Amino acid sequence: MSKIAIIGAGSVGATIAYACLIRGVSNHIALYDVNKSKVESEVLDLNHGLQFVPMASVEGSDELEICRDALIVVITAGAKQKVGQTRMELAAANARICREIVPKLVEICPNAIFLLVSNPMDVITFVTLKLSGLPASRVIGSGTVLDSSRFRFLIGRRLKVAVQNVHAYIAGEHGDSEIPLWSSATVANIPLHQWAVAGHGKLSVMDRTEIFQNVKNAAYQIIQGKGATNYAIGLATAKILEALLKNENRVLPISSLMSDYHGISDVCLSVPCIVNAKGVDAVLPIGLNEAERSGLVNSAEKIREVIRACGF
Ligand code: NAD
Repeated sequence: MSKIAIIGAGSVGATIAYACLIRGVSNHIALYDVNKSKVESEVLDLNHGLQFVPMASVEGSDELEICRDALIVVITAGAKQKVGQTRMELAAANARICREIVPKLVEICPNAIFLLVSNPMDVITFVTLKLSGLPASRVIGSGTVLDSSRFRFLIGRRLKVAVQNVHAYIAGEHGDSEIPLWSSATVANIPLHQWAVAGHGKLSVMDRTEIFQNVKNAAYQIIQGKGATNYAIGLATAKILEALLKNENRVLPISSLMSDYHGISDVCLSVPCIVNAKGVDAVLPIGLNEAERSGLVNSAEKIREVIRACGF
């Protein structure tokens, strides 16, 4: 069995469950939400699709007990951004939810890896790490896996190359202070700054600025139009869960505790990591130019300020 527990059956939690079912990531999904009718209805709807996906069971409840003995606990509960609101503005409310549920979850899922999705995700990952008392390898955030996939999509679309052939990361906060790692970006192993292919163009400074602005503002734009982001985060989280459950050693820019990473310590943020059944197994020593290094340090400071304001 590969039980995962999803805390919060809102747009994000329910879509993670849906993506996991379709991909056959887990054969046992438990959903928990304080809103009983919401969680029961989402579970009913998911159950009605079980005939069409790899064998699995889905259950849900407003009792935390439903999560018992999960191998992975995914936290999506809590406040989400309203139009124009930053992720950091959600910190106090979502840290309060963690204070309430994390100690209980550690008790009923003593061997679980915790995967944080609720925003501000880096702050909430750090808060959960402290509240849980678990080793840092077992408390991770969905990080900039989503932001990096937005980044790759936009680069690939501009250069008319499949997104799967673009390798490029967004690092730092999953939020306004995040930074694009242009210096290590490649397309089919060709460094992006050398890319100039007839019919496929090359990226000008203006293109880069526009691409990064679109990555950074993607959530604001989507929330303006439909009130929530759910599909891409659902797929990104399913991919992280797959890497954990299938011990894949997959490189993903998840959020985890930094320990003297380019001089950054005692904060959770995203850089490319090796993810396997242990959780985060290694943080990769990716090369940074001076602008990227100072951008990452600045991002760490922004996250740390909010962590302190939450009382941690
Ligand atoms: P939503 O409002 O649709 O769902 C939140 C759910 O949490 C609701 O169903 C609510 O009843 C439940 N909830 C509230 N308090 C709870 C508690 N104490 N225990 C259990 N459940 C509780 O919101 P959403 O769109 O699903 O977003 C959820 C979170 O995910 C937000 O913080 C949002 O900002 C974040 N998010 C993160 C990323 C990322 O890349 N990390 C992407 C999208 C959204």
